[in-house]
Amino acid sequence: MNDYIKSLKEANKLNISIDKSKTFDWKYTKIAGPCSVEGPEIIDIAKNMKALGANAFRAGAYKPCTYPVLEEINGWKEGLREEGLKLLKQVKEETGLPIVTEVMDANMIDEVSQVADVFQIGTRNFQNYTLLDALGRCNTPVLLKRGTWGTIDEILGACERILVGGNDKIAICLRGVVGMPNYRHVFPTIRWAPDIMMVPALKELTNIPVIFDPSHSTGYRNFVEPMSKAALGAGADGLIIECHPDPDNSISDPAQAIDYNVLNRIFNG
Ligand code: PEP
Ligand code: MN
Repeated sequence: MNDYIKSLKEANKLNISIDKSKTFDWKYTKIAGPCSVEGPEIIDIAKNMKALGANAFRAGAYKPCTYPVLEEINGWKEGLREEGLKLLKQVKEETGLPIVTEVMDANMIDEVSQVADVFQIGTRNFQNYTLLDALGRCNTPVLLKRGTWGTIDEILGACERILVGGNDKIAICLRGVVGMPNYRHVFPTIRWAPDIMMVPALKELTNIPVIFDPSHSTGYRNFVEPMSKAALGAGADGLIIECHPDPDNSISDPAQAIDYNVLNRIFNG
C-alpha cells in the first residue's frame, strides 16, 4: 500500500471512502439514455428507457468532444446546450426519471443544477480542481468519470477533493482507459480499454459506489452487453449505458450505442 492510500486510511475525514462501516446509498444504478440530447424526441426516448427499467436518464446537453472542429450536424455542435437542458427538464417532468447530465465548469453549476439530479463530470474534467472543489460545496450527487489516464490514487485524490468539501454523494464511473487493445485494427471504433479489475480494486479500498460505463469503455456496441455482465460480476454497483432508438444515426458516439432490445436484455435478461 503506498503512502498516499495509507494516509487516506489514517485520515478520518474521508469517512465514506475509507471507513467501510459507513455506506452511502447510491440510488442511480440503471442509468441509460443517448449520448446527447438531440431534439424533442428525447421525451419519448426517455419514456421507453423507463419502461425498460432505467432508474435514471442520461444525455448530454453540453458535449465536449475529442475532435471539436468536426462539422455541425443539424445545428448540433458539442450539444444543444441551454436548449438541451430545457428538453431534459421536460423529460424529468413527464417521466419522473432523475437526470444525469454533464457539468463542464464551476460557473455552470447553477444553470445545470436547475435540471440535474446527478452532475456527471466528464473524463476530461476528472482533475479539474476548481470544478471538483465547487462540487464539494454542493449537495447534488456527483458521478465522477475517471480520466482515461487516472491511476487508483488519482481516482481517490479526485474523490477526496469533493468529499472534503462536504459533499459525500459521489460515485466513481469507470469508462475505459488508455492502453489501446491491440485489436483496434479489426474493431476500429474501439478507443479505450475497459478496466474491469479497477472495480474490485476500488471495492477493496473504499465504500464509494462504482458505476461502470460499458459504452465509452468499449466504443463498440456488440461489446456493451458482455462488458456490462463482466462489470456487474466484478461487483460494480450499477451501469451507465448509451442507448438510442436508431443507434447508427445517433449524432454522437453511434458505434457504441445499443438499441432497446439489447438494453432490455442487460436490464431485465
Ligand atoms: C459521455 O458520457 O457522454 C461522455 C462524454 O463520457 P466521457 O466523459 O467518459 O468521455
Ligand atoms: Mn458519449
